[in-house]
Amino acid sequence: MRQIKAGKLLLLVLLFSFFSTLGARCLLEAGRQNTLTARTVSSPSYRQDFYSPEMRREQDLLSEECRTFLRQVAEDSVYFPVPASSLDSSLTVSYVDSWMYERSYREKSRHEGTDIMAARNERGLYPIVSISDGTITNLGWLELGGWRIGITSPQGVYYYYAHLDSYADIAEGDTVKAGQLLGFMGDSGYGPEGTKGEFDVHLHLGIYSWGTGEEISVNPYYLLRSLEDRRLKYQYS
Ligand SMILES: [Zn+2]
Repeated sequence: MRQIKAGKLLLLVLLFSFFSTLGARCLLEAGRQNTLTARTVSSPSYRQDFYSPEMRREQDLLSEECRTFLRQVAEDSVYFPVPASSLDSSLTVSYVDSWMYERSYREKSRHEGTDIMAARNERGLYPIVSISDGTITNLGWLELGGWRIGITSPQGVYYYYAHLDSYADIAEGDTVKAGQLLGFMGDSGYGPEGTKGEFDVHLHLGIYSWGTGEEISVNPYYLLRSLEDRRLKYQYS
């Protein structure tokens, strides 16, 4: 009799722990889904993890607004912005995820983009091409960005290319095709018009949403990683 009771008790304990684990898991999963669904384009976690493999895998769980912007960027982004050299394989580029790293030009700010660094620190050497089709909505000098280009894609994604050395034959208002030459990588910026050499040669790339009527930057790092196998070849050395 006693043995049967003990057995029943054990079974009850086992059942209880099984269901509480299951319950906790369900709650956790529901919580995570809620967090994903509740995100807006301006949520720090959405901006930071933007286009990461995990986010793309779970995009069905995102809010409509976040899913839409992800899809627009996926559809409009065609090429990696720096073509490879068909003449010199040592002319590589490198970049890390430096989203929101501290920058201190004049006053402290946070890095809202990705810096694609040139293996050879020579201004005017590496070509820069447009990631997407679009219209040139901004072109000219910015104290921080130097010679910069802003391109608005057909679905309204804003691509920002900064610190160029020089421009290709383009003007504000022109339409461009993905892969079209925009100019050459440089080290312009951080000063009055024409300032060069304040830092190493690189392309600063920014990606912005205007979907809500205000400018919101997202981390370009994961998008760039995904575009690496869509890199054009240009002849330069
Ligand atoms: Zn930068």
